[in-house]
Amino acid sequence: MTYEVCIATMASHTALQILKAAKKAGFRTTAIATPRVESFYRRFSFIDKLIPTQPDEIDKLAPQLVEENTVFVPHGSFVEYCGPRKAESFEVPFFGTRGLIAVEAFQESKMQLLREAGIPTPEEYESAETAKPPVIVKFGGAKGGRGYFIASDRKTLLERLANAPKNVIIQQYLVGVPAYIHYFASPLENRVELFGADIRYESNIDGRVLGFAEPSFTVVGNRPLVLRESLLPLLTEYGEAFANAVERKLGQRMIGPFCLEAIIDEEMKVRVFEFSGRIVAGTNVYMGVGSPYSVLYFDRPMDMGERIALEIKKAVERNALEMVTT
Ligand code: AMP
Repeated sequence: MTYEVCIATMASHTALQILKAAKKAGFRTTAIATPRVESFYRRFSFIDKLIPTQPDEIDKLAPQLVEENTVFVPHGSFVEYCGPRKAESFEVPFFGTRGLIAVEAFQESKMQLLREAGIPTPEEYESAETAKPPVIVKFGGAKGGRGYFIASDRKTLLERLANAPKNVIIQQYLVGVPAYIHYFASPLENRVELFGADIRYESNIDGRVLGFAEPSFTVVGNRPLVLRESLLPLLTEYGEAFANAVERKLGQRMIGPFCLEAIIDEEMKVRVFEFSGRIVAGTNVYMGVGSPYSVLYFDRPMDMGERIALEIKKAVERNALEMVTT
């Protein structure tokens, strides 16, 4: 069966996962590609249409996409390429919670939302004087941790802050293992599904640095992670608390994939230092094979792209697309 709806996304990040699953579910598929990657994406038969564009001109495509009955799946690279303002005002129905783009544009509002959800977060310090090292210093708008620095004592913190931009967040550096926890909020099933987890493979953290370079957090890839089963009830609570806070604070339902980015310490304390209000690239580790937790909800393994396609398919069948789009 071919559905009238077309699923589109920007050709990067998780586009292969999203569009492959969309095609398999019977949707038409469109990739919006920058000239540099166009020829790569053209080779995949599950992409019906490829629209070449420059990121700063993406808004011009909106009328055409609406005409073609498109549901657009936004991901992190889409927001990064267009900038948050242009991304939020892209006038094509989004599968996801549009209002979160503005919240995520600022470190302060992002952390505030986590706190309002009652999720434990790292401590934040007003100034170098009140900070309790070790700390991690984050710059507004820094992408993927680029430009962050870690200071293990006050002297280093003061020295490095002297050359840093004024608008920084000084955060407690959490000692423990990172875990990026994937969730899917389903308006149709009225539940938040704990879907999977990954860890990032970061250049100067996981690489053969041998003391030659400072830690930096450039993400090169992702690795799958399964968590201790005893952590799953708490992580599920945090996912639900986050979705509830989004609804309370934004007046919009949490729709589709999101991720809580945590450090888990030796006492199994989970603290969340960041979230993503949409699909994260770490879900790609389960592309085609399905995430370990997806089998708890469905009788077959599913990747996040398939989960998105399933929700849109059910919404179309129930004539309820407005429940899963903003
Ligand atoms: P982010 O850009 O916020 O995702 O952070 C980049 C990386 O910095 C993450 O992958 C974490 O490994 C690390 N990180 C961020 N915040 C903290 C923190 N408060 N404590 C320890 N590590 C952190």
